[in-house]
Amino acid sequence: MRAVAILTAAGSGTRLGHALPKALVPLAGIPLVVRAAHALASSGLVRRVVVTAPPDALAEVVAAVGPAAGLEVVPGGATRQASVAAALARLDDEPGDTVVLVHDAARPLVPVRVVRRVAGAVALGRSAVVPVLAVADTIKRVAADGEVAETLDRRELRAVQTPQGFTLEVLRAAHAAAADRADDESLAATDDAGLVEAAGGRVWTVEGHEDAMKITTPRDLAVATALVQSVVPSPAPSAIGARP
Ligand code: C5P
Repeated sequence: MRAVAILTAAGSGTRLGHALPKALVPLAGIPLVVRAAHALASSGLVRRVVVTAPPDALAEVVAAVGPAAGLEVVPGGATRQASVAAALARLDDEPGDTVVLVHDAARPLVPVRVVRRVAGAVALGRSAVVPVLAVADTIKRVAADGEVAETLDRRELRAVQTPQGFTLEVLRAAHAAAADRADDESLAATDDAGLVEAAGGRVWTVEGHEDAMKITTPRDLAVATALVQSVVPSPAPSAIGARP
């Protein structure tokens, strides 16, 4: 399988309330973008990664990810969609049937098996694939004045994660069809599969994982830190079923 990846890391991360751009914020000592790049590389499938960085922090991101074969850093755009489009332009020399994974640096703890599951599904012929989780909360559509407009059927809903996987041909076509909306935050797509759907393409799902959680707020960072450090104590084996 020929797989390459786009790692989006050009967001400012305002909601994280950190002085650094989000991708450079350390999670248990290691920047999010470094952890995310490592998660992709650990799959053993990805031979090239294009990282999108905030234009004013390009040098810092280059320094964080370090020089590595097959890894390049490009300035991102005004929106996530524009950033992915900028990275896609760097993949012009790749054949259209290449598997491309688009992953957010904001999801640094994605398990390797999710990366492989997504890439594997694309390689088997699904040209657009997203990892998903069932939702635990009931979700309602709410009007601007706060009144509930509709309760959605939870059994049909899924929360969508990254990496999302595509053939390069399908991802290029989806971005080309929506290029006029890329620079407007109110119109740009928040994920790449959405662009494929908007262009009339089909998108399939595979099972995601809770560890691929998105880090947006300081609380998310605290939860992710706890996951990494495994500070949630499990009962000692001897304590389970111990007789008084
Ligand atoms: O803003 P949001 O949390 O949805 O960003 C998702 C991912 O897209 C993050 O990894 C962020 O760094 C990236 N991004 C980007 N270029 C932008 C905005 C966000 O690469 N202009």
